[in-house]
Amino acid sequence: MALNRRSFLTFAAGGVAGTLFTPVIWKSIDDTAIWTQNWPWIPRLEYGPRAYAATTCKLCPAGCGLNIRTAGGRPVAAEGRTDHPLSQGGICPLGAAAVQLLYAPARIKGPMQKQADGTHQPISWDQAEALLKEKLAEQNGKKDAVVCVSGDENGTINELFSALLGGLGSDGCFLMPGEQIVASKILREGSIGYDLENADFVLVFGADLLDGWGTAVRNKKAYGAAHPMGEEASAEYVYVGPTQNVTGGAADQWVSIAPGMEGVLALGVAYHLLQGGMTAPQAHDFFAYRNFVINRYTPEYVERLTGVAPEQVAELARKLRSANKPLIIPGSTIAQGGGVFNFAAALSLNMLFDNVNSAGGIQVLPDLPTVVSGAKEPAQVRAKDLVAYVQGVAEGKVSKPAVCLVYEANPLFALPLPDVTAQAFDGTYLVSFSTFYDETAAQADLLLPTPTFIERFDDVQTPYGSGFASYSLTRPAIRQPIFDTKPTGDVLLAVAKALGIDLGFASFDKVLEAKVAVLSELEGFFTDKVQPWEARAGKAPAAASGNLWRTISRGAVWASITEPFPTAMQLGSTIISQTAPPDAEDWTFPVSLAAMDSRTYGSRHIAIPPFCLPLLGEQEIQGDVFYVWMNSATARSYGLQAEDRVTLTGPNGSCLAKVRIFEGVGRNMVAAPLGFGHTAWDKFSRNKGDNIYKVLTVRTEPGSNLAVWADSRVRIAKA
Ligand code: SF4
Repeated sequence: MALNRRSFLTFAAGGVAGTLFTPVIWKSIDDTAIWTQNWPWIPRLEYGPRAYAATTCKLCPAGCGLNIRTAGGRPVAAEGRTDHPLSQGGICPLGAAAVQLLYAPARIKGPMQKQADGTHQPISWDQAEALLKEKLAEQNGKKDAVVCVSGDENGTINELFSALLGGLGSDGCFLMPGEQIVASKILREGSIGYDLENADFVLVFGADLLDGWGTAVRNKKAYGAAHPMGEEASAEYVYVGPTQNVTGGAADQWVSIAPGMEGVLALGVAYHLLQGGMTAPQAHDFFAYRNFVINRYTPEYVERLTGVAPEQVAELARKLRSANKPLIIPGSTIAQGGGVFNFAAALSLNMLFDNVNSAGGIQVLPDLPTVVSGAKEPAQVRAKDLVAYVQGVAEGKVSKPAVCLVYEANPLFALPLPDVTAQAFDGTYLVSFSTFYDETAAQADLLLPTPTFIERFDDVQTPYGSGFASYSLTRPAIRQPIFDTKPTGDVLLAVAKALGIDLGFASFDKVLEAKVAVLSELEGFFTDKVQPWEARAGKAPAAASGNLWRTISRGAVWASITEPFPTAMQLGSTIISQTAPPDAEDWTFPVSLAAMDSRTYGSRHIAIPPFCLPLLGEQEIQGDVFYVWMNSATARSYGLQAEDRVTLTGPNGSCLAKVRIFEGVGRNMVAAPLGFGHTAWDKFSRNKGDNIYKVLTVRTEPGSNLAVWADSRVRIAKA
């Protein structure tokens, strides 16, 4: 969907950082930086001219702006960019580790091929590309014999993958799971954003807005601006979720609720709004929605499912009504694996308030036009459900791919039930383009390492959750990549050419130049003088002009708030009534698992960097055993005390942990961090804690057929 075309926010028919930026943390990071100087793989600092390269972080999808400080041409530090609207000077612990990761022992130093004994041996790039070409040529024309798994949810690189696969006769271009997959079940095109900066009441359902979810650094900035030190807050934040995670701890109010029940509470709030006379004449399905909510989501029913008292639900409705700019944000605490029911139910509250594409409301953010011939539209790629596909392959319902290309993703670690994923891809020729020796790379037949974002050109288009459409580039801060790596885009173009598939470009840099060129045809501006949220509130920016490539490649951020008004808006009554919350009375696995995602623990494709290890508290990991958190009442009911060893068991696996007592976890829930338990990488992340992905439960949501796991449940027992 291009910016110059109209879009419609419609419900599809049928089926449907780590840390707050406190001085304490900055002190820790400072200490850490000193500590790391002793590691032999960190190069000695060299004297020379100091310089800064303005770039964009690609370590997670949030798209923060970073300045890479160099001394004598060598990167020495990553710092937050004050001129970037998605970071505004902020940086998360993972971003702060970006330069250290450049030199990390886990980096793959050149192309490699797996040997009969399972080890990887170096080969040349010519050999590596010839091998890839040979493997792909064998599958040319065989439907869906080649698939790709991309961990880059907002890069133009996906156009090359989908076009190459299309040229081979495959439709199997998948993204790693994220909120945008759920949103794609609701929004036909484009993605959904949230104009936090202009909202005065923010009701968050599930999403850990201030840590691992969406544009977390920008979200923190908006939260901080609304909560000035020593002054009255200009916006109230209410967090509805299982734990006092970063968002629950910072919010003005925390409402404890089991994961998966957020939508029930949202409809409970809708009940009070509707009973109070609220109408939404702009929505075509208002009466169907009203009847469904009033008849089903009564205060008694909502209390039985959520444990939240009717008065508390009514109070949330009252606060929403009295706000000038209420904003309701749906999401999963781990930014993945949520269901359509919860998403649509929370989103419907925004529709009731008619705050779509207005200041302080939700935003329909169009995708930028594609430039690679034969590429799939981003919405088509987002609509594909990787976890359902993997489960189908493992169960023999879907044919096993002959070749799987994995880019900036670690599916053998970071998909729910990694053993099932390994089984699904057993016998598949696995090609990893990873920068790091992760669990997937360790099993791969061919390693084609891509440089880090500090060593290459790449791009970031509108991260999920951002309140505005945007585009920025990464660019090399160093003359040559440190190791024998090659940008994946160039590898794909070379192999496509050798296969006779014309993707229309000679290099990935040229693809990016073409992408930047289309921006000049769209309504947009640079964010150096007017920020997108200021523009949405009425301040007029000057249209972007001049040589866009030169300006953006030097670090400028292009943004747009030009949104087509949704003329076919619905409240989602069909989807909401067809889908359903999880079974709240599953006694086989009686404890709700509140998984947590934090940038201190890395990201979906990056393990805990050495830099971040000292930031982990003694209550997160001790020795090789990590902690799970529960409140004292839950612990008592299972005969547990602080420091006891426990096993968490799901239908397909179990994890060993120690107990931390924390009253900021809801009753009968156990909170556990994702990101521990790596078996590959390097000694800094290997064998530390256990992998919570092993104990997740994947269910198929009725009505949407989407694979869902954010509401997993477990058994706990003293080990
Ligand atoms: S939040 Fe993501 S994009 Fe931003 S600095 Fe951290 S890792 Fe980089």
